[in-house]
Amino acid sequence: MTDCIFCAIVAGQAPASVVLDEPDVLAFMDIRPFTPGHLLVIPKRHASGLAQLDPEDGAKVFAAGQRIATAMRASDLPIDGVNMFLADGVAAGQEVFHVHLHLVPRTAGDGFGIRARWQTPRRAVLDGTAEAIRTAVETRRA
Ligand code: 5GP
Ligand code: ZN
Repeated sequence: MTDCIFCAIVAGQAPASVVLDEPDVLAFMDIRPFTPGHLLVIPKRHASGLAQLDPEDGAKVFAAGQRIATAMRASDLPIDGVNMFLADGVAAGQEVFHVHLHLVPRTAGDGFGIRARWQTPRRAVLDGTAEAIRTAVETRRA
């Protein structure tokens, strides 16, 4: 018995309303939806966060999410747009530590949104931040 609720769903040991079941990916309805139709796409192989996720599994999760989002947009369901959302880490709001991509169907006035203190940094600040991130990415690759 696993103590990861999403691994339990993959193993058939916990209930889920499945949307897509592929060899490496599962998509199912979120039990506390932000909006009607809110669902989660997960890799079947456990990964607690992005650093642990096999990039191939990540690609499959995104491809499945893209497929489902596109199908929902083209369907008769009352969906006018879709947000994809992924929380990596407690500070980002992650509560279940098995990577999952949220697909949030959107309609006008549905109440879903991103709260932020929008900033307008000068180009020099953007360039400095870009340089710091570029260095981090290159260091990680080396
Ligand atoms: P997070 O904040 O980690 O990005 O989102 C976790 C999501 O998983 C939440 O939207 C929550 O409603 C959903 N969730 C938590 N437990 C379960 C569960 O047992 N089954 C399903 N289907 N969704 C769950
Ligand atoms: Zn898991």
